[in-house]
Amino acid sequence: MVQIVIDSNKCLGEGICRAVCPKGGRIYKIVELDGKRLAVVMDESSCLGCKLCMTRCPHDAIRIDFKKRSRFRDVEF
Ligand code: SF4
Repeated sequence: MVQIVIDSNKCLGEGICRAVCPKGGRIYKIVELDGKRLAVVMDESSCLGCKLCMTRCPHDAIRIDFKKRSRFRDVEF
């Protein structure tokens, strides 16, 4: 399972993440919040974990975390 973390202090809402992501239209949406443009994640479950968004963001605003699954059913760590 992948978790996409956007640092709203760094993100300028340029939409590079949405443009480079193979599932961009499904995952990222660019919104305007209090006069500031920002990328928000709509559907994390569609993420392929390729890290393209993370490596292409010029502001280092995206982190992709891979959650490991334990051997115990339904338990994440
Ligand atoms: S890791 Fe890849 S698939 Fe996932 S949001 Fe980033 S660009 Fe899209």
